[in-house]
Amino acid sequence: KKLVIAIDGYSGVGKGTLAKALADKLSLPYLDTGLLYRAVGKKMLDAGLSVDSDGVVQIAEELTEKDWLRDDLRTPKIDKVASQVAAQPRVRAALLDMQRHFATQQGVVMDGRDIGTVIFPNADVKLFVTASAKVRAERRWLQYTTNPNDPAKAEQIKQIELELMQRDEADASRAVAPLRPAEDAHIIDTDHLNASEVLTQVLEIIQR
Ligand code: C5P
Repeated sequence: KKLVIAIDGYSGVGKGTLAKALADKLSLPYLDTGLLYRAVGKKMLDAGLSVDSDGVVQIAEELTEKDWLRDDLRTPKIDKVASQVAAQPRVRAALLDMQRHFATQQGVVMDGRDIGTVIFPNADVKLFVTASAKVRAERRWLQYTTNPNDPAKAEQIKQIELELMQRDEADASRAVAPLRPAEDAHIIDTDHLNASEVLTQVLEIIQR
């Protein structure tokens, strides 16, 4: 039976880690939809286009796998432009069918901001992953630091926290597909859970 799992939530909350683990466990394809908006943002920057131009819509319409399967899309600068192109209704419309078509015969695990609300309103399982901005910033810092005893640690975490909160705020307050849990989503608060505990909890929900 086809299984569609929709995972939404705040920036840097571990949606990708959870989605990948689930896809692996359940042998389902996985799509990180944030990469689509990142790839459009990157191409917009490279082409020197403005965010509300027709050119950006065309980029979204013509986007292919090679555009989003690249390793230079996770930078603070792309974080910001991705969020800006994502607020453009025409860009979202251009990416809609592609996302729906990604669900195969077996199903799909998809993560993003609007999967349970817009892309798959009839998903079999909807998850909305949360954690406080502080915890998310600490995790992200640990991921990227080369010196766990860096004296600038507190300041760097504060800066990451600020950027995460600004992006959440932009994503939640935009007019089109604002970030929010679907009414029937399971809320997964990961403040006090590690990745494997989150996976265990979610597998239990899916098997119900
Ligand atoms: O998930 P990720 O941080 O890679 O997403 C980058 C940006 O893309 C988000 O801040 C959000 O603005 C946008 N996005 C979206 N809808 C999705 C996935 C991502 O608006 N389904």
